[in-house]
Amino acid sequence: MTNTLLILPGDGIGPEVMAEVTRIIDWFGARRGLKFDVSEDLVGGAAYDVHGVPLADATMARAQEVDAVLLGAVGGPKYDALDFSVKPERGLLRLRKEMDLFANLRPAQCFDALADFSSLKRDVVSGLDIMIVRELTSGVYFGEPRGIFEEKDERVGINTQRYTESEIDRVARAAFELARKRGNKVCSMEKANVMESGILWREVVQRVHDADYPDVELSHMYADAGGMQLCRWPKQFDVIVTDNLFGDLLSDVAAMLTGSLGMLPSASLGAPMANGRPKALYEPVHGSAPDIAGQGKANPCACILSFAMALRYSFDRGDEATRLERAVEKVLADGVRTADLMQAEGATPVSTSGMGDAILAALDASL
Ligand code: NAD
Repeated sequence: MTNTLLILPGDGIGPEVMAEVTRIIDWFGARRGLKFDVSEDLVGGAAYDVHGVPLADATMARAQEVDAVLLGAVGGPKYDALDFSVKPERGLLRLRKEMDLFANLRPAQCFDALADFSSLKRDVVSGLDIMIVRELTSGVYFGEPRGIFEEKDERVGINTQRYTESEIDRVARAAFELARKRGNKVCSMEKANVMESGILWREVVQRVHDADYPDVELSHMYADAGGMQLCRWPKQFDVIVTDNLFGDLLSDVAAMLTGSLGMLPSASLGAPMANGRPKALYEPVHGSAPDIAGQGKANPCACILSFAMALRYSFDRGDEATRLERAVEKVLADGVRTADLMQAEGATPVSTSGMGDAILAALDASL
């Protein structure tokens, strides 16, 4: 099977960090025989500058065909005054919506060398490796009715939390499948104590488990208690599955356990395509960082680790994904740091490409 990849570097530091990913992709082709058919295109402000829209139809069509889309970042002050309909972020939202990417995967992994960056104590976060699966296309951010209405003599703001059984079913399956590739444990979080949608959520997750994933350990937790447990002892979790709203909050909490924005990858997955691979978009959690764009200061690790997720979840090469993650870990353990990861005064940070060089050297050393 050929491996097809669409690269969308985007704006700001996007192209800088993506340049390092491209070197890594070439390394896997040359040294591991893992060939990718790579195409590159525009998204966000970069697409607006050329096409007058943040995602051209042809780019959207290509994204629907490939095995995986790898995106850098979109946005920047140059585009702040644009009409809402053509803002850079609309390009990303269009990709997520039209590819129907319903499962958002946010790993929170704490590399030992960076444990001191966390706001929590070293022993609480060191070696942490959890995965939050957030439902991304339904729930209170999409439910109808919504709006601000007049009622009697005042206004009322309304949003509706709404989940169908099939929406819960498919994201639960995604979580169980993931758990089987990891620690085989899922904790489902909702508010079944106060929300009917939570009662249904819990029922459906349990039903999917009992029918098709009895080998996976399943527990249920109220989302507020889950937030507390994430800060108290996060290592008790393996995979957490939750809805759009709670997932938005809990994944940000979990991400910050690990310290730095420049280290956080993500994946958004949809239904399987004809070749059995899921629709997939991989991107770092950070934005286009206009304050450091063009200066060679950006940390490329989040984008590189997003490619590692693509190796694991789109191309079924968990072995090579681990090789890449270990190379990043080794480089950090050796004290190589971009500016965002510097603590000691007077130490000299490496540039974006310097970090890429170090990771490539660690990959060479892994052979
Ligand atoms: P940001 O993530 O771009 O930056 C926040 C801070 O973190 C900045 O100080 C930045 O320098 C730093 N930072 C981020 N990534 C880094 C990296 N890889 N290496 C080193 N430092 C890094 O968020 P922001 O400043 O709120 O937003 C800037 C622009 O990015 C806005 O236009 C926003 O809309 C957009 N944005 C895009 C995405 C996306 O493309 N998915 C996500 C968030 C924000």
